[in-house]
Amino acid sequence: MRCTFLFLAALVALTTASQRSYDGYQVMTIKTDDSQKLDMLFQWQEQGIDFWDNLNSIGRPMRVMIPPNLQTDFPAFLRDNEISHELIIPNVEPVLEQERKDQIESRARAMVNRRFAPRATADFSYYWQPSEINAYLRNLATEYPNLVTVEVAGESFEGREILVARISNSNFDGTKPKIFIDAGVHAREWIAPMSALNLIHELVEHSADNADFLACDWIIIPTVNPDGYQYTHDSDRFWRKTRSVNQGSKCRGVDGNRNYGYFWGQGAGISTNPCSDVFLGREPHSEKEIQAVVNEMAKDASGIRLYLSFHSYGDWLLFPWGYDRILHDNHEQLNQVGELVAEAIRTAHGRQYTTGNSAILLYPAAGGSDDYAAGVHNINLSYTVELSGGGLGGFDLPASQIVTVTREIFTGLRAYAQYVATNF
Ligand SMILES: [Zn+2]
Repeated sequence: MRCTFLFLAALVALTTASQRSYDGYQVMTIKTDDSQKLDMLFQWQEQGIDFWDNLNSIGRPMRVMIPPNLQTDFPAFLRDNEISHELIIPNVEPVLEQERKDQIESRARAMVNRRFAPRATADFSYYWQPSEINAYLRNLATEYPNLVTVEVAGESFEGREILVARISNSNFDGTKPKIFIDAGVHAREWIAPMSALNLIHELVEHSADNADFLACDWIIIPTVNPDGYQYTHDSDRFWRKTRSVNQGSKCRGVDGNRNYGYFWGQGAGISTNPCSDVFLGREPHSEKEIQAVVNEMAKDASGIRLYLSFHSYGDWLLFPWGYDRILHDNHEQLNQVGELVAEAIRTAHGRQYTTGNSAILLYPAAGGSDDYAAGVHNINLSYTVELSGGGLGGFDLPASQIVTVTREIFTGLRAYAQYVATNF
């Protein structure tokens, strides 16, 4: 036992050594009901204020992380403008240390359990690494060839395979409506890939229990941004973007969800500064990761009835348009289906998801995948799903809650699937 403890302590020290430190960083919740003040607040993003509720809104509290060098100026700005604020994490680093310890311990427990399990299957007690995700998908394809095929949708900037799982019990024969899901375009939103993996696990390994889902065919990319995701595990927990090199800049990466080619660069919530967390890239689809999604979507575009992109956090089911405060022609059905899904989750689990137009409800952001699916491929049901957060900051949802959050959205997915199967 002591030996295990020492081993774990050594592992924590080892993983901590290579991590970017957030010692002295603070997190505040801030709130304003004035849209002009919100616009002013967003200018601080360029200075290095990190908005954690990446879609924010008037009158709702939002969490921001403040680096040590802005801890005089930013609170002064808030006071001068009478924006209410409250310090919730005085120092981010100990929170991250706790998360790393938690992740190592839950993984170690999972490894021990696996030795006694009759057969290795999906274990949702810890956050998987990209290599584990791909190994699991390949394994499924070998074991369940009649149900799932796994293909390479593309390669990331750093050469990792971006896999797509295609799940059907009728071999994609064209008789069923298709549902397209991607997850993990934002690296630090760890619950997003896990939710996509839980869906794949349920559809393939528990297909008899979930026969209603298989009235649709599924195309799922569980980790769009494996480079960024790996980087959040190894180096910087709050990394959001891809890891591509921006020529002429010391800053790397593009916000994949500002990189899609529908009203790209024409609107709010974007930055042309490569150092910004919402850098839109030098051109639409500049990112290999986004090209992979776009290519995969194009293959089946005419048959896709529902598009979902998994993010975290906030318990939102958001629909287009995102680039500006304009309602989609199909907004009544988008809203109706969103309400139906939210109600299914609330009834079964008590969790309250809210549906609505992303730009009006929250804040505009151009170049997102939901706009692309709806605008370019006319997929009339298109949503960005902001899954549940947890922990102190939102992104640090403890591994022990992965099962809860993924089960809740799975209930929502059942409602989505039933609607699509009945109506298309
Ligand atoms: Zn996101």
